[in-house]
Amino acid sequence: MSQMPEIVKPFPMHELLKVSFGFHSVELKKLNGYDNVNYLVETERGNYIFKTYPFSAETFDLVEAETEFLHALQKRFHGRIPEPVPFEDGNYVKLIEFGGQKLVGRLLTFLEGKFMGDLNPSKSEYRSLGIFLAELDLELGKQKNYLIQSRKWEWDIQSLDLVHQYLEDIPSAKDRNTVRYYFLQFEENVRPQLSRLRKSFIYNDANEWNILINENQDLALIDFGDLTYGPLIQEVAVAMCYAAYNKADYLELAVEVLRGYHSVISLQEIEIEVLYYLISARLCISVCNSAHAKKADPENTYVSVSEENAWKMLYGWLKINPVEAENRFRLAIGYSRRQVNSHEESLEYRNQYLSSILSVSYSKPIIMERAAFQYMYDAYGNTFLDAYNNIPHVGHSHPKVVEAGQRQMAKLNTNTRYLYDILPAYAEKLLAKFPPALNRVFFVNSGSAASDLAIRMAKWHTQKEGLMVMEHGYHGNTQISIDISDYKFSNPKGQGQKPFILKTNLPDTYRGLFTTNDGTAGKAYAKAAIQQMQAFSQPIAAFIAEPIVGCGGQVPLATGYLEALYPAVRQQGGVCISDEVQTGFGRVGDSFWGFEQYGVVPDMVVLGKPMGNGHPMGAVVCTQEIADSFEKGVEFFSSFGGNPVSCAIGLAVLDVMEEEGLQENANLVGNYFKSLLMELKEKYACIGDVRGSGLFLGVDLVKPGTTIEDALLAKTIKNHLRDRMILISTDGPKDSVLKSKPPLIFTKENALQVVEETDRILKDYPC
Ligand code: PMP
Repeated sequence: MSQMPEIVKPFPMHELLKVSFGFHSVELKKLNGYDNVNYLVETERGNYIFKTYPFSAETFDLVEAETEFLHALQKRFHGRIPEPVPFEDGNYVKLIEFGGQKLVGRLLTFLEGKFMGDLNPSKSEYRSLGIFLAELDLELGKQKNYLIQSRKWEWDIQSLDLVHQYLEDIPSAKDRNTVRYYFLQFEENVRPQLSRLRKSFIYNDANEWNILINENQDLALIDFGDLTYGPLIQEVAVAMCYAAYNKADYLELAVEVLRGYHSVISLQEIEIEVLYYLISARLCISVCNSAHAKKADPENTYVSVSEENAWKMLYGWLKINPVEAENRFRLAIGYSRRQVNSHEESLEYRNQYLSSILSVSYSKPIIMERAAFQYMYDAYGNTFLDAYNNIPHVGHSHPKVVEAGQRQMAKLNTNTRYLYDILPAYAEKLLAKFPPALNRVFFVNSGSAASDLAIRMAKWHTQKEGLMVMEHGYHGNTQISIDISDYKFSNPKGQGQKPFILKTNLPDTYRGLFTTNDGTAGKAYAKAAIQQMQAFSQPIAAFIAEPIVGCGGQVPLATGYLEALYPAVRQQGGVCISDEVQTGFGRVGDSFWGFEQYGVVPDMVVLGKPMGNGHPMGAVVCTQEIADSFEKGVEFFSSFGGNPVSCAIGLAVLDVMEEEGLQENANLVGNYFKSLLMELKEKYACIGDVRGSGLFLGVDLVKPGTTIEDALLAKTIKNHLRDRMILISTDGPKDSVLKSKPPLIFTKENALQVVEETDRILKDYPC
């Protein structure tokens, strides 16, 4: 472009329009655009739209390019797209000096009709939209324009990385991390396919405020400012996104757009594969741009018009299994569902190589495909609400954890015999969560390895061999861990109790010997344990217990129990170990560690499961004194413990917990969840007890009027919940306790869903 046609006189706008286009009478109505100002122009010759944009050379050229497209499309789509109207001098686009501002201006015909956003369009109208877009794309495909072709900009899904910079403008950490999740999925599932997707010029903005339906039910499109050279399927994705985003069933109408489009341009399987993630990417662009615009101009309300629906859909989209979405897309256009092995085939394959000693959950096992936050997706397209798995502590596939691992794995993974700062940095952050006396950490790769190491260290430190353990306790799968796990060694098929093991009674205030949980029961249980300890054949090196005994059926220790027992253990020369593999890292809600609920400080703490959100990590945290003793023995080395990848992941878990306030969430949602379960207990006599803390809860099922365990009912509820797409487990010595310990991002809505479904199941049982 050599010279820009220009108007310089600062007329009032209506005068400017009269002079520029030869109108005699002009009535103006200002319409706010995303980043420009448009006017509805009513004249004696009819209605027009005058569009103005803040001037830049690039904008000028882009508007000219768009104008060329609009001209080229007139032959085929006259009346269904705006037509550019020339200024009196024959130019279609001009530079305007207006009120001291430089603007780019151009006039378009006004199209009659109602916005799709103001209507309740039918399936056939969404199908027509798909057809219209495909027909448009066929025409657009014949065009040439290097400016549009080379344009890299924020509303183009294939350039999703351009909006990454706006993430920090989103105020809520949870929202940010949800968007990050979709970014990550885009990189994993779409980016590698981009070069294989068919490209063309596309309209790229089929949202409900750009589509008009006129009296004859014909569709028209306005605003070609988002023209892009990109994957054809992106055209469909954008239209489907807006067809979905304020609907109760996101897919119902959206697939009609797909159907319509496919009836004109036959879509390929690879294009269908990326659709789920292209749709969510579009929503991410929308919320990122809104957040950025809002930050830059808090007064601009136009940008947030669709934001609320976009957020709602981003969270709602997580409830749709990507496999299910793909299958719905495939079926809509005549492809068959994706082929999946049957449960039997999968099980048979597994059993060819793996021992049947590894149990599989449910009589009808689940073939898991992927997972996101508190949802798990099976291979058939089902979405399960995960009310059970505590290992993905901050959520399945949490993007910050995944990215921390990916980045560090690509950079350095080695062992603790070299120096790398991320090791002390993680240790520092982790130890800051403990009382000051617990100031040394040893990293391993599992809870079992940590229990094993803790016992070894305790024995070495105390020079004693006896071990006092809790009835129904579980501490891991190594030989020492089994030795100290009543849950395993007392099993009818177990190894039995070793002579150096002293087992104490579970201080259970629901079903145990002492039930007054005001400190009386705790003291009585402790007294009995102390007597046992004194009468035992050998001195105790350590007493190990979980703060809430999971395999015992989520049984909290009686109030005052640890307070009375810990000093006695120490007095006879032993150390006290808290196994926080299940209860640690904020799960219990009102404290970060389970032991804190009882007002005690152990000498050693065993960590595992949630520490790496699924990445295998474990640790022993102990006092300086115990670490000093251990240092006098042989070198301790773990090939993987404390490696930089684990440290990066462990750090990310702690960061996410802080930024998303997950301990507080465990407290808030856990209290709500428990209160709902208590209400259920009032309703059904077969619920004997509801216990636990935060998001670590147990529901004890009994024969009505007794404390006799009802394992069959527990199993029935567990299986029925599975049929209702909720994962929960049963535990306890008789397997009669429903156990819930979901990822800490669990919401009140999720808790309500679990309780409502349980209620529906219980209605059918006479109790
Ligand atoms: N301690 C407790 C309380 C546990 O629940 C477990 C595992 N269920 C372990 C230790 C052992 O952890 P891992 O399976 O990671 O070895």
